[in-house]
Amino acid sequence: MTPTVTHATPAAIWAALSHVPDPEIPVVSITDMGMVRDVSVDGGRVTVTFTPTFSGCPALHVIRDSIEQAVRDLGVADVEVRSTLTPPWTTDWIGDDARERLREYGIAPPAPAEHGLIQLDAEPTRCPRCGSLNVRMTASFGPTLCKRMYVCESCREPFEGFKSV
Ligand SMILES: [Zn+2]
Repeated sequence: MTPTVTHATPAAIWAALSHVPDPEIPVVSITDMGMVRDVSVDGGRVTVTFTPTFSGCPALHVIRDSIEQAVRDLGVADVEVRSTLTPPWTTDWIGDDARERLREYGIAPPAPAEHGLIQLDAEPTRCPRCGSLNVRMTASFGPTLCKRMYVCESCREPFEGFKSV
């Protein structure tokens, strides 16, 4: 058996995946969102394990295809992409830098989900435009199942926020 020669080290694969955008929020990558849980290289075979954000998100196959393509672009022919829901994705996996970009993009970053408890309305949600805490939730589910819709009572602007899970 002739092993496939590849320069695809785990570090190179992580770097490539850090350029794969979140299919719903293009300002952050799937690694920013903490979706990529494991990268393993065994000879010429690469296995990437990811956990999708909110189980209601319809972009699962898009993420899977994007991961596979990013690894293939490194010259790897043998790619396996696995998804796992255990442990479930949590907003705590979102990187600090990504939280700031979400805010700039106009999405209220989620508050940390403390101690694994699902917080319903306990988190202070700020208007990403004016910073006011005087906001009102208008719908528990946004355009995707991932987000909530709010309206700011100070500047009257509607905006989207994440659910903390
Ligand atoms: Zn506002």
